[in-house]
This record gives sequence, structure tokens and C-alpha cells, in this order.
Amino acid sequence: MTEKWNMIVDIERCNNCRACFLAVKDEHTGNDFPGYAAEQPPMGHNWLDIERKERGTYPIVDAHFMPVMCNHCDDAPCVKAAKGGAITKRDDGIVIIDPEKSKGQKEIVDACPYGAVYWNEEKQIPQAWIFDAHLLDEGWDKTRAEQCCPTNVFRSLKVEDSEMQRIAADEGLEVLQPELGTKPRVYYKNMHLFNKCFVGGSVVANVGGVEECAEGAEVVLKHNGDEVARATTDLFGEFKIDKLAPNSGPYELEVTSASAGGLSTQFSVGDDSVYLGVMKLAAAA
Ligand code: SF4
Ligand code: SF4
Repeated sequence: MTEKWNMIVDIERCNNCRACFLAVKDEHTGNDFPGYAAEQPPMGHNWLDIERKERGTYPIVDAHFMPVMCNHCDDAPCVKAAKGGAITKRDDGIVIIDPEKSKGQKEIVDACPYGAVYWNEEKQIPQAWIFDAHLLDEGWDKTRAEQCCPTNVFRSLKVEDSEMQRIAADEGLEVLQPELGTKPRVYYKNMHLFNKCFVGGSVVANVGGVEECAEGAEVVLKHNGDEVARATTDLFGEFKIDKLAPNSGPYELEVTSASAGGLSTQFSVGDDSVYLGVMKLAAAA
């Protein structure tokens, strides 16, 4: 069995500082790496880009960031679209667009379903992130993006495919658009921050005629009568339950407080996360 490169990207750790974006720019702008990549134009090419996702409505909102780049797919549409051996799938899993052989093949840009290939107008070649293959071949054990990231978002791994599948299962990793069957070698951790929804609310209790934030109330989420998740309200009486599928439900939500009573409500999830508003506990009759 052959060890191959994979990249794990932890979305939860990314704070959009864009140091990785600049590292790729710095590596390739004005630098030619024959056999790997011609120099990147100073403008317009984001071989590694950062996508942004906002979820929820005021006051429970979150924003997360996801580095995206060439996925070095094992069943890559770009390879099928290339003519004359313009794209190589190396034994170590890395996909390289040959800067000479790919000249004039603009169709390679359109062939990538991830939008990861950029057209170099001046040189008339398609270009994408090369997994820093030129550095790995010199003995580096990580990419420049990984090296510079202050929050350890990236993890480069050179392992056998069976080991990578075990890691992906153990850590709940996902790939972008798996339904395409392209078999990406870039895996994402905490993808739910981009492709799932949360339900949140603010719970208040009536204490001697005064409404106060209900800290420590138990929140139980049910679907068709079965419990699917639970949470506890924080100091501000707020709760958040994540990883709900978009366009799912209906859900039943029950909140109970030993000292301030309970409440229940129903809701469904649409395309975005749900804020249930201020919810008032009522003492049992
Ligand atoms: S360097 Fe790390 S934290 Fe900064 S944008 Fe890139 S992945 Fe996110
Ligand atoms: S992400 Fe696009 S350019 Fe990269 S290997 Fe897959 S299909 Fe090819």
C-alpha cells in the first residue's frame, strides 16, 4: 500500500486572519516552479480562499470561516477534461496541472466542480493550489498554509488510504459535495458549522413578579416524540442546540426548571438556523 497526502481542515478553529491566503500568495506570486506551477498573477487568483457562513438571527448569531482550495480529488473531473497528459495524479495523491502541457486548455477551469482552478490570462494556462508539492518533495512535512496558521486549522497527513478512512470515521470528517463522487483528499472537521442549523432561545423565569434570565434550565429537543438532543441554559438563560439538518422537523422543545416551572413549543427548521425568541417559564398549575 502507498502512503498518500491528505489535508484535514478544522472549520471551528478558523478565525479568518487570512495568513494562509497570504502564504500561498507569497509562495507563488513572482515565483516559478517548473514542473509544478508557473507564477501566480498578483491579482485575481485565490488558489486558497476563505469562505464565510453566518447562521441565526439576533441575538444568537454565529459566523464561521472555511479555507477552500483544490481538493486533489482521486476521481477528478479536471483530469478527465485534460488533454495530452496536462494533469497528473501523482502516486502520493497530489494532482498537478502541468504549466506547459496545459497551455490553452481553458476547459480545465470549467471542469472543476469546486471552482478551484483559475485561468492565467497572460500565460493562457489553468492554475490551482498544488498542495505545496514542490516543498513536500524537498522534505517538508507540512504546507506553508499549515506552517503559518496561528490556530492549527490545517493538518497534513501522509498515510495509507485505509488509515485515512479510519481517521475520517473516528473524527467525523466530511468532504465537500460528496454526492459528486470526486473523492476529495481535503477533509473538513466541524462541517456542521457550514451545512447544518441550530435552534436557540432565551429563557426567562418569573421570580417574585420580576422576570430574570433562567440559568440552569434543562432543554430537551424531540422529534416524533424521541429525544434527539439536550442542553442547559447559560447565565443569560440562553441555549443553543446544533447539528440540525436544514429543512427538518417538526421538533418539540421542552424546557424545565426545578425552581421556575416549564414550557414547551414546536418549530421546524428551514434553510437557516432558528431563534425561538424570549421564552417564559410558567409554574405548574
Ligand atoms: S491562517 Fe488559519 S485561522 Fe487564519 S484564515 Fe487561514 S486557516 Fe483561518
Ligand atoms: S478540486 Fe477541482 S482542480 Fe482539484 S482535483 Fe478536484 S476537480 Fe481537479
